[in-house]
Amino acid sequence: MDALEPDQVALLRSILERRRAELAGAAARESAGAGGLPVQEVETSPADKATVRLLNDLALEAAGQAAAQLATVKHALAKFEDGSYGLCEDCGNDIGFSRLQARPEARLCIACQTRVEKRKASA
Ligand SMILES: [Zn+2]
Repeated sequence: MDALEPDQVALLRSILERRRAELAGAAARESAGAGGLPVQEVETSPADKATVRLLNDLALEAAGQAAAQLATVKHALAKFEDGSYGLCEDCGNDIGFSRLQARPEARLCIACQTRVEKRKASA
């Protein structure tokens, strides 16, 4: 089939490890609170305070996204350990290098991904 070569596995793993480091840094910065937030509390009118709160909420939301992406990347990296990286989690077929190059964290082959998305769209 379309199994990965050892050097392709090494390449994808290094991409994922770099992404994990970036995301871990982003999640830590954003959830660290005051220091990481883009907006400082200063002498403000009530309207400005609302704006500050909104921006802080957005920063927290971004941190949540980084944490979610980090979990996905960690999940993908764990599969190198048990040798299941590159295999579809649904049907067990090879996901294929070209797809993994675009999305190294992909969990499903293109056929299963398409099926899932169709199911979502019709729900
Ligand atoms: Zn599949």
